[in-house]
Amino acid sequence: METSVTLERAIELACEAPLTRDTERVSLADAADRVLATDLASKVDDPRFDNSAMDGWAVRADDCASPGASLRIVGTSQAGTDQSLRVGEGEACRIMTGAPVPEGADAIVMIEDSTTDDGNAIVNGPARPGYIRRRGENLREGDTALLSGTQLTPAALSLAATMGYGEVEVVVKPNVAVISVGDELVPPGEPLGDGAIYESNTFGVASLVERMGGRAQRFEAIQDSMDDLRTALDEAAATCDAILTSGGVSMGQWDFVRRIMEEEGEPLFWRVRMRPGGPPLFGRWKGTPLFGLPGNPVSSHVVFTVLVSPWMSSCMGAHEELGPRLASRVRVVLESPLKGAPGKLCLRRISIRSEGDSLLASTHTHQGSGNIHSMVAHNGLSLLAPDTDANEGEAIDALWLR
Ligand code: AMP
Ligand code: MG
Repeated sequence: METSVTLERAIELACEAPLTRDTERVSLADAADRVLATDLASKVDDPRFDNSAMDGWAVRADDCASPGASLRIVGTSQAGTDQSLRVGEGEACRIMTGAPVPEGADAIVMIEDSTTDDGNAIVNGPARPGYIRRRGENLREGDTALLSGTQLTPAALSLAATMGYGEVEVVVKPNVAVISVGDELVPPGEPLGDGAIYESNTFGVASLVERMGGRAQRFEAIQDSMDDLRTALDEAAATCDAILTSGGVSMGQWDFVRRIMEEEGEPLFWRVRMRPGGPPLFGRWKGTPLFGLPGNPVSSHVVFTVLVSPWMSSCMGAHEELGPRLASRVRVVLESPLKGAPGKLCLRRISIRSEGDSLLASTHTHQGSGNIHSMVAHNGLSLLAPDTDANEGEAIDALWLR
């Protein structure tokens, strides 16, 4: 087991114990937010035929050279109809947006730029070839427009449909157990005894799992007990593809997740050089990948964001930019100085806002790793290299959380 590794090394080691990736075919109607498992090439040209971008008249541009040209109306081209209309010299065909451009026409006049008079269209504005959307100008049949690993956003779903896909092959959602460990933990809403606190981590962490394209299985909080922990981990390993625990990974006497992994599991690393979130552990329990997240609420969210989420992306074959992501890497200018951490990557909660040409970042709550309010009151995390402080006005790397 490696200890006190860098975040990069931690991700690398975790990727040595990946989830197995399965794929399934789903109807496009059920595919929102899923991760594509194959490239998709268009089955059709888009547009499928030359069509009008405007409601107006399909004409020959030469006929409209002088203002007030009068053209004989020869018919109507409507979207969805297959007509073999023709526009000859001195003629105009009424045309609707999306309707096929009749043969012979090479330009469109907007309806607003015309009047009609006794079976003629009087053209008072420009006849524009640019108002014709040309066959295949967006995509040619066979063009690959959606890449494997892309998360099916609303626009990606419509594009898949445009390309002719009623079903798509997607990555099966990994089942991820989310287990909290601690004698003090009580479900929110229930009476609190002395020394008890509300269990909060599994709610946030389960939601992070789902955002990354997984299916979260929240377990009841378990006690600080080797036997209870063993039972829960065995059940999770038997029913889930990965296990996330929170709590019990520090140096304390009751930190049983670390102990049980050391004694009975296969730990690959423990402790990452980052703050907050120093004590995470990773390994396998009965063959199932397991992350031991720290119990401090900010730490568990931050460790998920920078460590578990890239691991899930990699396991699911997600595209680096187009796959599910929790944050975007940006450059921000500090509005106040930020203190780094000795020997550790420092992820302080920051508020990022856009002003003029820059993104500005400020902090405004207590930064303790127990303060989950700091994750809600801010929308970003600093990426301060180990042993570096940053001054007001300095530009630093940061994560802009979604
Ligand atoms: P631990 O990692 O078990 O030493 O826990 C560190 C801190 O996080 C302690 O203050 C715990 O009470 C708190 N904590 C641990 N697990 C949770 C949880 N699931 N929800 C909220 N707080 C927790
Ligand atoms: Mg504990």
